[in-house]
Amino acid sequence: MSQDSPSIKTAHQIVMQKGEMFVGWSTKEDVRKRGGSGGLVTSVLAAALEKKLVDAVVVLKKINEFEAVPIITSDVNEVLNSAGSLHSVPSNFAKLIANKDMKVALPAKGCDVRGIIEQGKRNAVNLDNTFIIGLNCGGSMHPVTTREMLEVMYKIKPEDVHGEEIEKGKLIFKTKDGKEHAITIDELEEKGYGRRESCRYCTIKIPNNSDLACGNWGVTGDLAGKATFVEINSEKGAKLLQNAIDAGHIQLQKPDEKGVAARAKIKGAMEGLGKKWKDRVFVPLDNRLEYFRKELENCIDCGACKAVCPTCSCGDVSKCTEFHYRGDAYKMSMYHLVRFLHLADSCIGCGQCSDVCPVDIPLTRLYRRFANTVQEQLKYEPGMDLRKPPYFEAKLEV
Ligand SMILES: Cc1cc2nc3c(=O)[nH]c(=O)nc-3n(C[C@H](O)[C@H](O)[C@H](O)COP(=O)(O)OP(=O)(O)OC[C@H]3O[C@@H](n4cnc5c(N)ncnc54)[C@H](O)[C@@H]3O)c2cc1C
Repeated sequence: MSQDSPSIKTAHQIVMQKGEMFVGWSTKEDVRKRGGSGGLVTSVLAAALEKKLVDAVVVLKKINEFEAVPIITSDVNEVLNSAGSLHSVPSNFAKLIANKDMKVALPAKGCDVRGIIEQGKRNAVNLDNTFIIGLNCGGSMHPVTTREMLEVMYKIKPEDVHGEEIEKGKLIFKTKDGKEHAITIDELEEKGYGRRESCRYCTIKIPNNSDLACGNWGVTGDLAGKATFVEINSEKGAKLLQNAIDAGHIQLQKPDEKGVAARAKIKGAMEGLGKKWKDRVFVPLDNRLEYFRKELENCIDCGACKAVCPTCSCGDVSKCTEFHYRGDAYKMSMYHLVRFLHLADSCIGCGQCSDVCPVDIPLTRLYRRFANTVQEQLKYEPGMDLRKPPYFEAKLEV
């Protein structure tokens, strides 16, 4: 069905409630073109600001394909300008909205959603005032590795890249001369490029713990690439969508059965792949203590991993920073030992600590290795909303 189809359902024909699924797009031509898949997310955010559902919106302000800064803005035009998916830009939205007393709406990949909820548990974010538009995510890439990958694997200059997309297991870069350059993600990852390691073993591909879950999986036919598949996960999500329709910013229609089934199938396949990667990365160790000690021996106590961590809400003065010195006689980074414990329940495996480590310690792998065991025992995943089941059903098995 085309976007101009007369059979598009209007607002009063649509039931907005948890569990409902739609395919939708921005009514603004330029946002629809610039958007990752039809600009729906941008338009929902813009409408929330315009109609004062929120005081501010968080988006990425693009510098180029590999660089962007997260901004918190009340300017609708700034929001409209942010349309588009940046696969090699890290985001740290949870920290940006922490300790701010305002109603805010923001896009969020699975790890961002979990970071925000973890901040909520620590009273640094008021979840009732936070409208989270979840983005499905098959994985993101490190900007520096991506630039190198472009030169080595694609034989193109990063400056010539004009856009990117992921389709049928291939990572496709579009260059300014109008050409497309595609390589399978499997091949890239075999050669050490592609997604961050933590994205490979992540199993949250559709963030149903957000208010809306949006992505291109499940958009079929003529609409493929031009519309977003959106699932309502909460009352707040329904409110966001209804508001965007009422404000004339988006159009919705029901997805076809084929699309719903395709989305579920891809989700299952991606989660299965994530689990396989998890087994591959976290092979059992003969000597765990020696492994952790060795990996951490080059730590220079700069604290960058703590500063960037989306779930840490301690501030500058905290237990771990008391050990920011190398004078202790214990031949192990005490700073990290304290952080291992601190993050045992809350490490979301976002990869940002590894990204910023100046001495290239694979920190996310270490934190997850520690946290996996605890979280498996607790039957607990960071990002579970404690106000709802299954948290209340979780049992500690010791
Ligand atoms: C890294 C990444 C991987 C994705 N992988 C998949 C996938 O495998 N399957 C799938 O179905 N969908 C995936 N998506 C979602 C998809 O690309 C679209 O974002 C979604 O369909 C919404 O499209 P839209 O046109 O409505 O969004 P837009 O209107 O283009 O709005 C996108 C919003 O996302 C923000 N944004 C852009 N890049 C990032 C980023 N790196 N981190 C956080 N926020 C960002 C922008 O600031 C903007 O507000 C991914 C998105 C990202 C960012």
